[in-house]
Amino acid sequence: MMALKKKILRSGLAVSVIWLALYLTSLQLPLQNSVAVSSSLTDPIQWVDFTIPYEAMKKAMDLDIDSHDSEQPLDWIEILSVLATRYGGNWNQYKSGDMDKVVQQLTEDGSAPEQEHSKVYYDYYYQAYTAVLGEFLGEHQREIPDKLNPGEKTVTEKYGLKAYSPIADGFGYNHYDDFGNSRSYGYTRNHLGHDLMGAIGTPICAVEAGIVEHLGWNQYGGWRVGIRSLDGTRYYYYAHLRKDRPYHINLEEGHLVKAGEVIGYLGMTGYSTQPNVSNMTVPHLHFGMQLIFDPSQEEGGKEIWIDVYEIVKLLNHNRATVDRDEESKEYYRRYDIFDPKVEAYIQANPLCRK
Ligand SMILES: [Zn+2]
Repeated sequence: MMALKKKILRSGLAVSVIWLALYLTSLQLPLQNSVAVSSSLTDPIQWVDFTIPYEAMKKAMDLDIDSHDSEQPLDWIEILSVLATRYGGNWNQYKSGDMDKVVQQLTEDGSAPEQEHSKVYYDYYYQAYTAVLGEFLGEHQREIPDKLNPGEKTVTEKYGLKAYSPIADGFGYNHYDDFGNSRSYGYTRNHLGHDLMGAIGTPICAVEAGIVEHLGWNQYGGWRVGIRSLDGTRYYYYAHLRKDRPYHINLEEGHLVKAGEVIGYLGMTGYSTQPNVSNMTVPHLHFGMQLIFDPSQEEGGKEIWIDVYEIVKLLNHNRATVDRDEESKEYYRRYDIFDPKVEAYIQANPLCRK
């Protein structure tokens, strides 16, 4: 039994090593030469295996937030990148105590050994993880309930999680890690996203702010929305939205949505060339995140989709409260958020909002 377990662990590690070797070969960098390699990555990243467990992300995020106003602020992406380098990308080895050691080194020495002697690997993880998580934390203002005036709102300054769960607060869902599972509609392929099972009509919120790039029917995704982050690096895909009324009334192609805004409603449309057909058996949101380091990765064989299961668990800590407008039957978020980067974009492009 132990031998089998060891074999599985070893083969997992072997896969990571092979993958990294292939990646470095594509960059024409030596695999076994961590001292001589000092160049930084110039070619765009070709692939990302996002396997950081929720527990590690949550702990690193809290360390970052709690130390933000201290003399030695910690960067959660730095912590996670050092650990990924130490593990050779195999997060199955993760132990909370390992992160404590990294934090101790960063605090006492100003850096961890990997940032010097495995710089090329460290830089790879830092770039890859920044592409995924780089806009999740930040300074922002947000509306909160005013304790002194019940029913009123007040605005507070905050540093913390500013990306939202795709499922509005108070609405149930269940999920498991189904990334890479086989799908057979149309052609045999891997599931490049994450399914969240919930009730039809559940309000779906934008995880991050961005521009609506695709809106309408797609034979696989049914009624779907594609939203590109403002820095262009992330493409969020929300699919199988509700029959007849899939989208929020304010949604429009080319327009900006803010993080946490209601964009549509959960349904079971798709798997049909004919629009507005519900060919699913289980109502769910298909949520996907694509990374784009280079325009050649936007569409086709070079697309990079990551497993967002652990990310959805993290985002569960920030869910949008919504209210239903009885006249229009639309849901609206109750508490707005003001992200300086997003507000600056709106200021510069006033026509991007209705
Ligand atoms: Zn799916």
